Amino acid sequence: MAMHELSLCQALVETALEALGDACFETVTCSETVACSETVARLQTVETLVVEIGDLAGVEPQALAFCFPIVTQGTRLEGASLQIERVPVRIRCAVCGAEEALPLPLRFRCPRCGGAAATMLAGREIQLRSIVLRVPEEPNVEAPTTHPPSVIDNFPLGGKP
Ligand SMILES: [Zn+2]
Repeated sequence: MAMHELSLCQALVETALEALGDACFETVTCSETVACSETVARLQTVETLVVEIGDLAGVEPQALAFCFPIVTQGTRLEGASLQIERVPVRIRCAVCGAEEALPLPLRFRCPRCGGAAATMLAGREIQLRSIVLRVPEEPNVEAPTTHPPSVIDNFPLGGKP
């Protein structure tokens, strides 16, 4: 296991837990089975963490995915899935001015004119982009029976694009 991905994963999880706070996970579930009409579970479970990883971020997505269930064990994120979205390297060519995404494997040439001088616009991102929450179905509520997932967005992790 790569240490870099492990510490990165811990940073991601800490950021997510901070962002979630306590409010999302408050339960008002009544322990009485029938008598109480106030039985509404407000517990929201975390369904997915969406993370953006630039092609030049130096992060091995597979190693990150491997660390995730280990790091989240015993936290509120246990059982959540990790969705890693690749961010292609984008350059602005100094020769022809084109803004292009570079395909993999990376070759640092302008895809349009072959020029070798360029400004990098994107590709170093390491960012927790969103946290997808889900409210469990509440059998006592008539409608709607399914809740669209709510999303908390955009938590830069200090990785500057
Ligand atoms: Zn060019």
